[in-house]
Amino acid sequence: MKATFTPGPWRVERGLHDAAIRSAHFHIALVTSGLDDDPSQPTFAANARLIAAAPELYAWMRKELADYDDMGHDGSDCDCVSCVRVAEARAILTRIDGEDAS
Ligand SMILES: [Zn+2]
Repeated sequence: MKATFTPGPWRVERGLHDAAIRSAHFHIALVTSGLDDDPSQPTFAANARLIAAAPELYAWMRKELADYDDMGHDGSDCDCVSCVRVAEARAILTRIDGEDAS
């Protein structure tokens, strides 16, 4: 399975009332504050940082799951805390990969 999103790293370019997320060559997204948002409480900047970290989080999750698979315990018939969390991580990656993943 291969991710189809724009490869990272992504970075944040913050303005006063918005923050742009960009890769090396592409504009990824623009996060804006609401009209009533207080610029001193820049939630939009925190949201932008979270979005910009997504490619690194995705890669880290893939590596962790590969290491888990290498241990030979697929967790398919286990409900220990580790296996439940691995199943949750796999579900998140499935949502990220979507239907266009190959
Ligand atoms: Zn287990």
